[in-house]
Amino acid sequence: MTTESTATQTTRAWVDIDLGALVRNGAALQRHAGVPLVPMIKADAYGLGAVACARALLALQPHGFGVATVAEALELREAGIRQRIYVFSPLLPLDFAAARQAGVVPTLGDPAAIAAWVAGGAGAWHLAIDTGMHRAGIRWDAVGALADLVRESPPEGAFTHFHSAERNDGSWELQERRFRDALAALPERPVLLHAQNSAGIVRRSPSPWSFVRPGVFLYGVDSGDGAQLHPEPVVHVRARVLELHDLQDGDTVSYGASWRAVGARRVATLGIGYADGYRRSLGNKGPALLNGERTTVSGVVTMDMTMIDVTDIPCAAGDVVTLIGRDGDALITVEEVAMYADFMSPYEVLTGLRQRLPRRYHERVV
Ligand SMILES: *Cc1c(COP(=O)(O)O)cnc(C)c1O
Repeated sequence: MTTESTATQTTRAWVDIDLGALVRNGAALQRHAGVPLVPMIKADAYGLGAVACARALLALQPHGFGVATVAEALELREAGIRQRIYVFSPLLPLDFAAARQAGVVPTLGDPAAIAAWVAGGAGAWHLAIDTGMHRAGIRWDAVGALADLVRESPPEGAFTHFHSAERNDGSWELQERRFRDALAALPERPVLLHAQNSAGIVRRSPSPWSFVRPGVFLYGVDSGDGAQLHPEPVVHVRARVLELHDLQDGDTVSYGASWRAVGARRVATLGIGYADGYRRSLGNKGPALLNGERTTVSGVVTMDMTMIDVTDIPCAAGDVVTLIGRDGDALITVEEVAMYADFMSPYEVLTGLRQRLPRRYHERVV
């Protein structure tokens, strides 16, 4: 299935998404972990499109999907996704009616919220246990105090989340010990236990738990130094050359004139800018691939346009430039772009791609 390009989709800039690579990344994680996946498709699948990614990932028969909000779950339900959906941000009781209607599984840690959920009727929920991140869930050493509440209405599952699974700093082992201590403090062991994000899966196999919760690896981002398993690229950001400009010695490019031609130079203007999510901080640094050659952004990125140096690259208006992803044998990774963008998080690069860039879905991107 290749969504055919229409004129409006590819005149300027767009994102090619390789659903085949997405599914292969998921399959690799599943083989490694030895348990089913709950793909994290929150934030519109990290910007790639939650419905398209969910549909593709159904090929792996996932245990369910993970999102961050009830609205995200509703979007999947409206698209016909019948699988389990977990909401991995704490829900307030004012969201409970909508959550029940969407048939989602909330992840709760606050005793008052748990009491309100179980008072509202049947409906599976998972206990969020905070083992050191201090973002969501009940503290591991306070779980015993929930005994009465959970004896009445036991959670179907319990889980924790690692704050530094991509590092070998001992924090992960400490969190896992705390998780096991907290589980031992419950009157009954919940049926479903889960803990691992992408880095946790890559670094620990087989999984000792019921399922795993990968996000960023599915979308083609690596899990840091020393990882044994590497994803295929999934996201390819393209922009077309709109105009070419021949510059003379001393001419400058873009706002602030931060780039100055030394001798005769040629720059190409691309139809992409920071309002598309191509960060302004990539000015004078961002890498680009064009007709098999690698070059760099010239001057600052503007709202709708970005210039690159094409002095040594034969090209014409209409040619397609790759700013993230693969062009032939060459590759610009999300991590590389994040690093050039003043050491941003690769997660932020992906979720920052704006809707002005149409997403085009492919079984295979070559
Ligand atoms: C986002 C998230 C994940 C996935 O994390 P990645 O690092 O993208 O694999 C897993 N679990 C929870 C609770 C999350 O919020």
